[in-house]
Amino acid sequence: MTRTARLLIVGPQGSGKGTQGARIAQALGIPTVSTGDVFRANIAAGTPLGEQVKAITAAGNLVSDELTGQIVRDRLSQDDAAAGFLLDGYPRNLRQVQDLDGFLAERDAHLDAVIELSVPRAESIERLALRAKEQGRTDDTDEIIAKRLAIYESETAPILDVYRERGTVDTIDGVGTLDEITERIVAALTARGITRPAAV
Ligand code: AMP
Repeated sequence: MTRTARLLIVGPQGSGKGTQGARIAQALGIPTVSTGDVFRANIAAGTPLGEQVKAITAAGNLVSDELTGQIVRDRLSQDDAAAGFLLDGYPRNLRQVQDLDGFLAERDAHLDAVIELSVPRAESIERLALRAKEQGRTDDTDEIIAKRLAIYESETAPILDVYRERGTVDTIDGVGTLDEITERIVAALTARGITRPAAV
């Protein structure tokens, strides 16, 4: 059994990774670290960071690796993330994988599992269109959705090959009810011996 639960959830926009990530993090008692949420919260609060990333995120582009990496390092350095965390939206390209590897290696740590949520492209687009209506996210317009999905394919999907080579990826069918999908993820993590981490 692993005593840590350092996890990453990866999937295209509209795969449900935010929802499932939150459920898994809650089940395991670990914090979710979502870079997208950090940026959105800062934009909503009008902070200097928010002002800096507003136009970039609204256009569907990626914020710089340096800035994003700093945010993640700060968050993962907090006590509540010592034994486990669930990353959502970071790393998002190969450079960020390297940055995260470096950060974790300094702490003698590594990711215990990478959950890949697999959803057909047509279904992702449908779910995003629905979310746009419900949540009014400025980066959920048709054109920006297409751009974000293209960036996912070209920059983010390749990170899965790196993790696959390390044997850490569990590919989960992301089509079904919320509970069914959560159960699939929990089963895959349990099979790896990943449960609620021991308190540190
Ligand atoms: P998300 O909610 O994960 O889709 O993130 C929303 C937006 O925040 C993205 O379209 C990017 O503009 C920005 N963002 C989130 N995570 C990252 C990251 N790891 N690297 C660069 N930009 C990011």
